[in-house]
Amino acid sequence: MTQILIAEDEARIAAFVAKGLQAHGMTTTVVPSAREAYDHALSGTVDLLLLDLGLEDGDGGDMLRNLRATGSTVPVIILTARNSVSDTVAGLESGADDYMSKPFRFEELLARIRLRLRTPAAAGEQSTLTHGRLTLDLLTRRIRVGPREVELSAREFSLAEAFMRHPGHVLSREQLLSQVWGYDFDPGSNVVDVYVRYLRRKIGAEHIATLRGMGYRLVEVP
Ligand code: CA
Repeated sequence: MTQILIAEDEARIAAFVAKGLQAHGMTTTVVPSAREAYDHALSGTVDLLLLDLGLEDGDGGDMLRNLRATGSTVPVIILTARNSVSDTVAGLESGADDYMSKPFRFEELLARIRLRLRTPAAAGEQSTLTHGRLTLDLLTRRIRVGPREVELSAREFSLAEAFMRHPGHVLSREQLLSQVWGYDFDPGSNVVDVYVRYLRRKIGAEHIATLRGMGYRLVEVP
């Protein structure tokens, strides 16, 4: 299983990211300080480090420079509220592989993490998900309905993926919002319903059941 180390001192953000990554089959460790991040990153069990710059006990960038000085090549994505060009450059110069500013969309973070983990196989993930007549290919990002291949937009694909990873489970609008759209999205928005409608139009309405007051569920169509 892919082990992601999350160095983040804001509990709300750390919990949001950890929950999302776990839903995608990864294991997570959250640490609030640069000191603990450094120790964990050197333990040899971490596949990728998500690094906040403003940590409890100091600067994540300084920690990263020290980490790289030991010869550690663990992939690092900086996740921070600082978003000027000079911050980005400084972050990359301190040895980060990528840089994302907050607020961010979970979907984009996940895509960037997957890019840094060499292959889906190395990430301990299957490259296709199957449920009834539906087959989702995580590498080509296409879906098949029986023998028919269907084109999905990036957002539709992420929504389909959220369903396919929890076949038969009832997923609430809030769960789908946070998994597909990110924590900064307005919870009062009807975007989930709109995209469920788009997805039904493409793969067939019979695949997604509405449970009034509860959410949606992927149905196994033989
Ligand atoms: Ca912080």
